[in-house]
Amino acid sequence: MISVEQALEKILSYVDVLGAEPSPILDCLGQVLAEDIYSGIDVPPLDNTAMDGYALRSGDTHGASQESPRFLRVIDTVAAGSISEYEVEAGTAIRIMTGAPIPKGADCVVRFEDTDEVQRREHSTDQQLPAEIGILCEASVGLSIRRAGEDITAGSIVLHKGVVIRPSEVGVLASLGHSTVMVIRRPVVAILATGDELVDINQPLPVGKIYNSNTYSVAALVARYGGTPRILGIALDSEDSLVEGLRRGLEADMLITIGGVSAGDYDIVKDVLAKEGEIAFWTVRMKPGKPLAFGTIKGMSRAGVARNIPHLGLPGNPVSAMVTFELFARPAILKMMGKKNLAKPTVDAVIENCMVNSDGRRILARAMVEKRGGQYFARLTGPQGSGILTSMTSANGLVIVPEDKAEVKAGDVVQTIMLDWSEEV
Ligand code: AMP
Ligand code: MG
Repeated sequence: MISVEQALEKILSYVDVLGAEPSPILDCLGQVLAEDIYSGIDVPPLDNTAMDGYALRSGDTHGASQESPRFLRVIDTVAAGSISEYEVEAGTAIRIMTGAPIPKGADCVVRFEDTDEVQRREHSTDQQLPAEIGILCEASVGLSIRRAGEDITAGSIVLHKGVVIRPSEVGVLASLGHSTVMVIRRPVVAILATGDELVDINQPLPVGKIYNSNTYSVAALVARYGGTPRILGIALDSEDSLVEGLRRGLEADMLITIGGVSAGDYDIVKDVLAKEGEIAFWTVRMKPGKPLAFGTIKGMSRAGVARNIPHLGLPGNPVSAMVTFELFARPAILKMMGKKNLAKPTVDAVIENCMVNSDGRRILARAMVEKRGGQYFARLTGPQGSGILTSMTSANGLVIVPEDKAEVKAGDVVQTIMLDWSEEV
C-alpha cells in the first residue's frame, strides 16, 4: 500500500496542463490566463473629475474662505460621458459631475460641499444653472482630478499569463474592452458509476436498490473545482457493461469510475483496466479511501489521436468517493487547468474528541471547525462510517490523524484540511 503523498505524486505525474482556448470573460472565472494582457488604451482615457463640483482655475481661489468667498461666473455644466465645448477662463467655472472630463483651462475641481451651491439651490425656485458660484476654500492644482492613465497606461502589461481569473480580473479585462480572453481550457471529466444495486435519481426505487448518489456528488465536485463533468451513467458489475461504459468516455481528459474497487469487487474492474489500459496503483494507506485505484485507459483525443487518459477508480462508499476526490482528483483537475497551488488550506485545530488509529493508515475524519478566541477547534461530526454521506454535509474540514499516531486525545492539536471556509470559521 502506498502513502497519500506517493499516490498524489504518481497521479500528478500522469496529468498535463491542457491547451488554451478563447473564452468569454464571464465564463472563465477560476481559469488560468494563457496570454499576457497589454492595454491599448489609457484608463481613464482623459483627465476627469473625482467629485461633483466646479471645474475652475486654482489661481482664482487665492484667499477664498467661508467668510470671504470668491465668486465665479458659471458658463456651462458637464456630465460624465460629455465634453464641454467651453474653456474655463479666469473668473469662470464649469459645473461638473463625477467622471466627466476636465474642461479646457481648468486645473482643479472644487466639490459642491466647498461652494455655496447648496444654499443657492435652497434659495432658488428654478432648476437653472446658477449664474455664479461662491468658492469657499483655496484649491490647489490637480485637486479632485483623476489623471488620464492613472489606473492603466496604454502599452503597459496589465495581467500576466498564469494568473487565476477572479471577478477583479474580469473587471480589468472589461475596462480594456476585452470580451474574450485566452485561458487554459477546463478539463472534461467523465464519470461512470458502477454497481448492479444502483438506480438513477429520476427512477422509482425498487426494493434492494439504492440511488446513484456518487455520480452527482462527484460531478458537483468536478464543477466546483472548475472542470466540466460528463456523466456516463451506471455500468453493471460485468466486464461487458464496464467496457461499454468506459468507451463512452474516451474523449474526456480524465475518467473517473466509482465503485467496484473494494477487495471483493476489484477483479472485474482490475481485469477491464488491465485490458483497456494500465494500472499504476491500487490501495492507499488512508481511511476512508483505501481501495483507490489509478491508471490510464487507452483513449483518443478530440482530433482522433490515440492517447492515454488518466483514470481514477474511486471507492464506492459515498464518503470515500468524496474524500478521495478532494485529495487526488481535485489536484489533478487544478494541474490540468494550469494552476500552481494545488493544496487545500489547512489549519491547526484543537480536537474536541478522542480518536484511535488501529491499523496504521492516515485517518481523515469529518469535522466541524470553528474559530473561538483566536484558536481553531475541531469537533467530529459523529459516526465516521464511510457510508454516512450526511456526515459530509455537517463537516467543513477533515481532521488528519497521521498513520504513525495510534491515538489522538481531546485537547491535542491536529492538522485539519479545510473543505469549506465560510465566514463563520
Ligand atoms: P463498491 O466500492 O462498489 O464495493 O461499493 C461500496 C459501497 O458503496 C456499496 O455499499 C455500494 O452500494 C456503495 N456505492 C457504490 N457506488 C455507489 C454510488 N454510485 N452511489 C451510492 N452508493 C454507491
Ligand atoms: Mg460495487
